[in-house]
Amino acid sequence: MSECTFCKIVNGEIPSYKVYEDRYILAFLDRNPVHEGHTLVIPKKHSETILDTDDETLRKLVVATRKISKAIYKSLKLKGFNIGINQFKVAGQAVPHLHIHIMPRHENDGLRLWPSREYESELEKMKVLEKIRKLLK
Ligand code: 5GP
Ligand code: ZN
Repeated sequence: MSECTFCKIVNGEIPSYKVYEDRYILAFLDRNPVHEGHTLVIPKKHSETILDTDDETLRKLVVATRKISKAIYKSLKLKGFNIGINQFKVAGQAVPHLHIHIMPRHENDGLRLWPSREYESELEKMKVLEKIRKLLK
C-alpha cells in the first residue's frame, strides 16, 4: 500500500473531485485553490519529479494538461492561466508525486509571480551559463 497521497487519490483511498481521467492521467480539483477551478494533473504512475519520469508519461501529461487547460480556460471564461510545477521540497513541492498545477487567472486578481533580480555582472551570467551548458553537450 502506497504512502503517497496522490497514489492514494489514484487508487481511490482518498476521495477527489475528478476533472478528467484516462488510462494514464488523472486530473482533480486542488483542495486549496488559488482561484476556483485550480486543477492538478498527475500521471497515475508514481514518480516524484520530471527528472524521474519516463518520456512517454511526460508527453501524455503535457498533452493532457493542454486539453484540460483548454476546457478550464473556455468554460470559466478566463483571461489567462498559469501552469506550474514545484520540483522538490526547497521549491515548494509538498506532495512528492509529480503534478502540474493549472491555475486560473483573472484581471487584477492580486496574485504575484515570483520575484526577480538583475545579474550582478556579466561574469556571474557567463559562469552559470557555462555550468549548465556543460551538461547539455
Ligand atoms: P505542491 O506544493 O506540492 O506543488 O502542491 C500540492 C498541492 O496539492 C497543494 O496545492 C494542495 O492544496 C494540494 N493537495 C494536497 N493534498 C491534497 C489532497 O488530498 N486532495 C487534493 N484535492 N489536493 C491536495
Ligand atoms: Zn504517488
